Amino acid sequence: MAYKTVNPFTGEEVKSFEIMSKQAIDAKLKTAAACYEDWRKNSFEDRKKIVQKVADLMRERSDVLAALITLEMGKRIKESKGEIELAASIYAYYATQAEKFLADEPLSPEKGSAYIRKEPIGVLLGVEPWNYPFYQVARFAAPNIMAGNCILLKHASNVPQCALAIEKLFIDAGAPEGLYTNLFISSDKIEDLIADPVIKAVSLTGSEGAGASVAAACGKNLKKSVLELGGSDPFIVLEDAELDKTVKWAVYGRMQNCGQACTAAKRFIVMDKVYDEFLEKFKAALETMEPGDPMLEDTKLGPLSSKTALEDLEEQVEKSVKAGAKLLTGGKRFDRKGNFMQPTILTDIPENAEAFHEELFGPVASVYRVHTEEEAVALANATRFGLGGAIFTTDEKRAQKLAERINAGMVFINHPTGSQPDLPFGGTNQSGYGRELSYLGIDEFLNKKLVRTSDINDR
Ligand code: NAP
Repeated sequence: MAYKTVNPFTGEEVKSFEIMSKQAIDAKLKTAAACYEDWRKNSFEDRKKIVQKVADLMRERSDVLAALITLEMGKRIKESKGEIELAASIYAYYATQAEKFLADEPLSPEKGSAYIRKEPIGVLLGVEPWNYPFYQVARFAAPNIMAGNCILLKHASNVPQCALAIEKLFIDAGAPEGLYTNLFISSDKIEDLIADPVIKAVSLTGSEGAGASVAAACGKNLKKSVLELGGSDPFIVLEDAELDKTVKWAVYGRMQNCGQACTAAKRFIVMDKVYDEFLEKFKAALETMEPGDPMLEDTKLGPLSSKTALEDLEEQVEKSVKAGAKLLTGGKRFDRKGNFMQPTILTDIPENAEAFHEELFGPVASVYRVHTEEEAVALANATRFGLGGAIFTTDEKRAQKLAERINAGMVFINHPTGSQPDLPFGGTNQSGYGRELSYLGIDEFLNKKLVRTSDINDR
């Protein structure tokens, strides 16, 4: 697939970029490998200077970078600015915390002494998606560069200008050549790249299909992978929840990034006692969301990232309705230019409907009525995914007990699944494996080397 900027608001092709030749990629691999030999020896202070500078430049350039996100994948400009700030805060977090996270870990063997030294492993490949083009890269690049690794990054083919802008941030921050390298490479060449001896490990954020193919190539070449894949997060509303505030979070949880988030609230599981009131208020709120130009600050609903994304989502809704789901509101694209999908609610969804078992990547909410906690847990876990989940209630203890029964990598109480630098992020089951962010995120691509000292006379 070619690298192209296609404006999701107008459908216009703005710019395209050449895929790199094999020779160009080989040269980038060589440069990254050479860079690693120096970078791994640098002090934390030296690494920090570059990574903190990336954060500072990102904040300085926020307006320009945010506009690029909006141009290429249609995110509302306010949200794009929020993404830039979040990404900058991740670089700043690892710049200041990495040394502490990577300090030697003393052990207490019966005799002698021992410690674990946390060393980098080499050049890593990142494969990243378009939905948060700066934030997703930050989660991978910031901790690993602070750990002494070097990065080659294959970004999604619809956000080439964001991809180049990230590489430029590193260059302008004074990074040595090869520390962070953008690759315009088609996804069918990733397997060959993974086989190259320079690449030591791979991190992919994206769909299950892409994850499976990267994991298979890593397996074949005995290389580690981290996978951050899709999700179909439950949003459980118990009968004692503060309803108005819960509805506000439900709207945010489903509609952030126009519903195109792995951790968006996708399945609303609501206790019978509050179901009708929740649904009425949720529907009323979604129906106020009018489409508009994503570059304008007060726009409430932006376009989906691509025409294909819109067509696929519309088809999933149609198929679900054919299978017996009820359409409460929305269901179609807006009759206007741009990839605009109506905010949609499906209810009474049978188990054979796509909405029941597939991820809906856009502004479509599936709402379920339940009568007991048992039923809520069973429905929450009736998915092959296991990324995040949310529970709304005024009884914190009850929520924490319930959280233990949800099969997911993250459970949030009284907030939709979220992300911040100091909390770990990741899933279980088909949502992938490994963790990003917090101290866990810097721990994935390290050689945890044991150094053991014995008395030579000990047996
Ligand atoms: P995608 O098609 O899998 O694309 C993601 C990245 O993988 C892109 O760079 C893409 O390149 C590349 N890719 C695609 N097929 C590949 C293959 N066979 N081998 C190697 N690389 C391949 O994902 P998407 O549909 O754009 O993104 C949305 C998905 O990502 C959703 O399922 C969402 O839930 C998930 N996601 C998960 C997280 C998380 O943290 N768990 C975060 C965000 C998104 P091209 O663009 O060139 O195809």
